[in-house]
Amino acid sequence: MTAVKGLSLLSGGLDSQLAVKVLESAGAEVEGVCFATPFFSHSAAEKAAEALGIRLHIVDFTATELALIENPPHGFGKAMNPCIDCHASMIRCAGEMAARLGFDFVATGEVLGQRPMSQNRQALEIVEREAALQGRLVRPLSALLLEPSIPEREGRLDRSKLLSLQGRRRDAQIALAAQFGITEYPSPAGGCKLTEAAYGRKLKDLRDHEGLGSRRLVELLAVGRHFRLPDGTGLIVGRDQRENEILACETALGEFFDSGNLPGPGALLVGGARSADDLALARRIVAAYTKGGGEASRDFMQPYHIC
Ligand code: SF4
Repeated sequence: MTAVKGLSLLSGGLDSQLAVKVLESAGAEVEGVCFATPFFSHSAAEKAAEALGIRLHIVDFTATELALIENPPHGFGKAMNPCIDCHASMIRCAGEMAARLGFDFVATGEVLGQRPMSQNRQALEIVEREAALQGRLVRPLSALLLEPSIPEREGRLDRSKLLSLQGRRRDAQIALAAQFGITEYPSPAGGCKLTEAAYGRKLKDLRDHEGLGSRRLVELLAVGRHFRLPDGTGLIVGRDQRENEILACETALGEFFDSGNLPGPGALLVGGARSADDLALARRIVAAYTKGGGEASRDFMQPYHIC
């Protein structure tokens, strides 16, 4: 009998790495898939795939993620993170890839009850149903607490090797990591910018003003200090030389200016009416960040400062 083949979501986090190891111990051949967006770097997944010795498929997920941010059917988490829909969409996409590439099942490193909102039993069921993967979605870390999947029922995936982890404690995962020789993994909370409240404020502001149609404007949320001026103009002020240079190259998106002869930041004006009042305020804000060229207090800019 040929080995059962699984396509496992791999973020590079510990649980996703453990899922691969547990599936392999249960007799599966595993490849990984990760979903790249401006909000989530895939470098940890690439590192993990290399350490695990598995092939990694990288899918550009930006368009799907942006559409979910515009309209998340199950709403947002604490910030601008449409986790339930995002996760379901990733799994649906992995399911389509699995069917196309001849995999028998899709797997994730989800642990029942680890995240109260997105990994409770009901959320796991929603994801499986909405991804149209009934019976072909395996959660090896909590499989013994869930209905057996089709590969388990067929005896092609050894259920006795699957686990019954649940809850938020990490002791069992850390012990398993040592057992499987997994030494490098990022912290469980880190990674997705959409879960950060401050980043969420900038993203919401962009969505509500310029919209999310420009991928480059979305990428620029990671650069500089962001302001929204009274007549609707967006202002991004560089925080260091590297950011000043990035902003100086974005003249296709907006209007760049700097602090002239004084040492200080560069800034980009985007969208809005760019009224005379906004431009004057933008120059005043930039001047306040120059060395010796602006007002002593920066309190005046607080009402316009997003993050
Ligand atoms: S944390 Fe980010 S990448 Fe992960 S499911 Fe939520 S929105 Fe998607």
